[in-house]
Amino acid sequence: MKTFFDLIQEVQKPGLCHRCGGCVTFCTAINYGALELDSDGKPRYGEIEKCIECGLCHAICPEIDELEEETRRQVGWSAPMGRIIETSVLRSSDTAIRKKATDGGAVTGPLLHLFREGRIDGAIVAKQVGPFQRRPFLATSAEEILAAAGFFFDTSHGMKSFSDQYMTYSSIEEFDPLVKKGLERVALVGTPCQIHSVRRMQAMGLVPSDSIRFCLGLFCS
Ligand SMILES: Cc1cc2nc3c(=O)[nH]c(=O)nc-3n(C[C@H](O)[C@H](O)[C@H](O)COP(=O)(O)OP(=O)(O)OC[C@H]3O[C@@H](n4cnc5c(N)ncnc54)[C@H](O)[C@@H]3O)c2cc1C
Ligand code: SF4
Ligand code: SF4
Repeated sequence: MKTFFDLIQEVQKPGLCHRCGGCVTFCTAINYGALELDSDGKPRYGEIEKCIECGLCHAICPEIDELEEETRRQVGWSAPMGRIIETSVLRSSDTAIRKKATDGGAVTGPLLHLFREGRIDGAIVAKQVGPFQRRPFLATSAEEILAAAGFFFDTSHGMKSFSDQYMTYSSIEEFDPLVKKGLERVALVGTPCQIHSVRRMQAMGLVPSDSIRFCLGLFCS
C-alpha cells in the first residue's frame, strides 16, 4: 500500500505538489492526524506513528493517476475539458459584490444566490489574513461569503518561484469544522487541484466530501 512516504518521493520531491491540502485534509478529517501543513502550506508528517498506512492520501492526490478513470466516469467528464452545459461571460448585477470581487463576482454572486435561496448552509472560501496569505474559511452567513470575495495575488517575485514561495493556495482543510458543525450542504471554491482532490474523495465515497454539493473552480496559473 502506498502512503504519504510515496507522495514525498513521487510528488513533493519532483516539485509537483500544488499544496491543495487534499492529503492532509483527509488524514485529519478521519482523525488519523499523521499529517499536517507546515507554515508554508506544505504537507508533511506531523505524528508519523499515527499513520495506519491506509493509502488514502496517496489515492486522493491529484498528481497520482490511479483513480483518474473512475473520477472522470463519476463526474461525466468528456474531452477536452469535462462536461460543459453552457459557456458564458458573467458579472454580478449587485454593485456591493462587484466592488469587493476580483473579476466581477462570477463566484461570489452565485454563492450568495445559493445561500439566500436556502440551497447551501455554508461555503468553503478563503479570506485574507496577511499581505501574502489567505486562509481557508467556512463561511456560514451571507456577510461572511461577501467578506471573502476577492483575491490577492503578488506578482513581484515572478512566476518561477511561485509554488515554493507563495501561500497563495489555500487548502481544503476546512473539512474539519464542516464535520464538527454537521453541515450537509456546502459549496467549495477552489483552484483546479483542490477541486480535483475533492472529486477523488467523492469518487471513493469518503466522508465528508458527500457534503460538498457545489464546486466552484477558479482559473489558476
Ligand atoms: C492561486 C490562484 C491563481 C489564479 N490564477 C489565475 C490566472 O492565472 N488567470 C485567471 O484568469 N484567473 C486566475 N485566478 C482566478 C482569479 O483570481 C479570480 O479568482 C477569478 O477570476 C474569480 O473572480 P470573481 O470576481 O468571479 O471571484 P470573486 O467573486 O472575487 O470570488 C473569489 C472567490 O475565490 C476565493 N478564493 C480567493 N483566493 C483563493 C485561494 N487562494 N484558494 C481558494 N479560494 C480562493 C474567495 O474566497 C472567493 O470566494 C487565480 C486564482 C487563484 C486562487
Ligand atoms: S494514515 Fe492514511 S492518510 Fe494518513 S498519512 Fe497514513 S496512509 Fe496517508
Ligand atoms: S494531495 Fe495535494 S497537498 Fe498532498 S501531496 Fe498531493 S498535491 Fe500535494
